[in-house]
Amino acid sequence: MNKLKTLHILLVDNDLNNLSSLEAMIQIPGIYPLKAGSGEEALSFINSHEPAIIFLDLQMKKTDGYALAEKIRDNKKSHRVPIVFISTLPVRRPFLFRGHENGSVDYMVKPLDKTVLTSKINFCIDLWKTTKSLEKKKTALHKALENIKVEMSEHRRTEAALRESRQQFKSLGENSPDIIYTLGLDGSFAYVNPAWKKILGHPRESVLGKYFVDFVEKDDVKQYRDFFRQIRDGKKTLRDVTGTLIHKKGSPRLFNLSGAPNVNGKGDVIGMVGLLKDITEQQKLQVQLLRAQKMEALGTLAGGIAHDFNNLLQAIQGYADLLLLSIEENSEAVEEVKEIKHASQRGAELTRQLLTFSRKAKSRLQAININSEIKHILKLLDRTIPKMIDIEPRLTEDVRIVNADPSQIEQIIMNLAVNARDAMPDGGKLTIKTEVVFLDNSFCNACPGLLPGDHVLLTATDTGCGMDSQVLEHLFEPFYTTKTNGKGTGLGLSIIYGIVKNHGGHIECSSRTGKGTEFKIYLPVLEQKLPAARSVNKKEIAASKGNETVMFVDDDSQVRHSGEQLLTRYGYKMLTASSGENALELYRQKHEEIDLIILDLIMPGMGGINCLEEILKINPREKIIVTTGHECSKSEKEGPLSKITHFIHKPYESHDLLQTARFILDRS
Ligand code: ADP
Ligand code: MG
Repeated sequence: MNKLKTLHILLVDNDLNNLSSLEAMIQIPGIYPLKAGSGEEALSFINSHEPAIIFLDLQMKKTDGYALAEKIRDNKKSHRVPIVFISTLPVRRPFLFRGHENGSVDYMVKPLDKTVLTSKINFCIDLWKTTKSLEKKKTALHKALENIKVEMSEHRRTEAALRESRQQFKSLGENSPDIIYTLGLDGSFAYVNPAWKKILGHPRESVLGKYFVDFVEKDDVKQYRDFFRQIRDGKKTLRDVTGTLIHKKGSPRLFNLSGAPNVNGKGDVIGMVGLLKDITEQQKLQVQLLRAQKMEALGTLAGGIAHDFNNLLQAIQGYADLLLLSIEENSEAVEEVKEIKHASQRGAELTRQLLTFSRKAKSRLQAININSEIKHILKLLDRTIPKMIDIEPRLTEDVRIVNADPSQIEQIIMNLAVNARDAMPDGGKLTIKTEVVFLDNSFCNACPGLLPGDHVLLTATDTGCGMDSQVLEHLFEPFYTTKTNGKGTGLGLSIIYGIVKNHGGHIECSSRTGKGTEFKIYLPVLEQKLPAARSVNKKEIAASKGNETVMFVDDDSQVRHSGEQLLTRYGYKMLTASSGENALELYRQKHEEIDLIILDLIMPGMGGINCLEEILKINPREKIIVTTGHECSKSEKEGPLSKITHFIHKPYESHDLLQTARFILDRS
């Protein structure tokens, strides 16, 4: 550090002799005197050499020593350089003060003593060095102060940003509909947001410090430990894991789970953070939707089966009727044939039920008060349901009108009650409740066919054996039964399902093994009366015989054959066709002769409807009876079928067909 630096001393005097003798006196190593004979010279030396001391003669001829001292002080480069005044005159106080005022630090009177001079120079140099080093320190301190100021303002900025982000996190957490949590390394809660209480019921204070696995089902504990181990030890971020947590009241709730390691500034894992999204309702709706879709598919399937079945029954009934015509009235066989007819009628009843399920059977809708219907049925139930089952009606006073088929409502209550009876062999309680509820958009979205608005809610609750999830999944399917020994057909609930859908309603069931069962049926409230369903206007006709020509069209050979025989027996001339194409060809050739067409709708190839359309093009006034195995859809009814006034539903009674044929033929 102690680098030897050349120091200059500036000697200022007009008198060159004086200057030289002063110079001669200064013999200090490292110190070099500079001689200035005038003020200008002195100032120029100051600028070029920055002397450490200035010796200034006061009594100069051209220069005023005081004024020069003042200039030296004003100069930035020399304002701290010690100035020593030299005078030939003895020291007088006013001079001394003036000298000090102008910046001198010392005063010497000639003749000068070398020793005194040297010691003064040494002292002044020390002073100068100290001043210099203080100046340096001051500059360094200034710089440091500046840096601190910058750092302080940066710190303040960071702090404000931190405060803001903390505030943002807080409001995010406090307002999030999903649960946000942080866990310590041991899996205990360090933070949960208010959504935890809203969704799971426990207050926040009772959660903090507890372990995550304290809130899950026992069987799931291992799965959750693995989940958090992967996050903590494997430093993984996991998403979209489905898991269950338990509500304070004990019921499970389903969550979409995500988690990530919580890392500090140094990159160490200090815990875990994550999100829990409650998907219980969403999941429920999805299951309902799937079930509804499955039932739709089953309905279509059942409708198809019922159609084929009706053709078979039609053939059986037709032939049985023919048999009855051919055998003697008092023959033993009459009773047996009647049994065949009876059995086929029971079969027809079964297909009617299937069609109800597939929503293809006709319901006779009318504005009804469901409470009155229920009261009426309860009287019947009194006889059907054993006394050890207590039936409690809880019917709202303010029930609203629904558009429903009373006989089908009766069927619903009957089937529900019979099921409840079977579920309570040792007695119990069946509650039948009605109320009016409003269903909103989100509820209706999950239930196809349901529209938002007021609904009458019919709830049937029993205290019976209940069902497990396996049964719950299938119970509305036709032929699904858990009852053995032919006790159940498995049709009860599928029929209820069909009726409810037919009425624009919705049904759901909740049940647990041993905990009873609850069925809820929603029926839309009627805002406006619907026009009564169209029915065929039949007139009683005594004589069904005729001699006209009838074209009978059906793809089922047995149906065709029995129909042909029946009508032939009653005097008609018959033409038959087994498809729309055949019928059309025949009609083109013989339409002059043909008086009446009996036309089946569902046939392969062009089918009945297209055939009908072509026939009507040739003769729009052609007399036609349409036979069908199922109710026509709305779009079907809007086509050529809208021109048809007479429909006969399969399986039909022979006399129905004969009477209808006669009625049309006699009409002009
Ligand atoms: P079935 O009564 O002929 O078996 P359903 O369609 O009426 O057919 O019912 C189907 C199944 O649903 C029944 O076999 C039974 O397992 C179950 N079930 C229906 N209602 C109840 C109820 N109230 N309590 C318990 N189980 C029921
Ligand atoms: Mg049943």
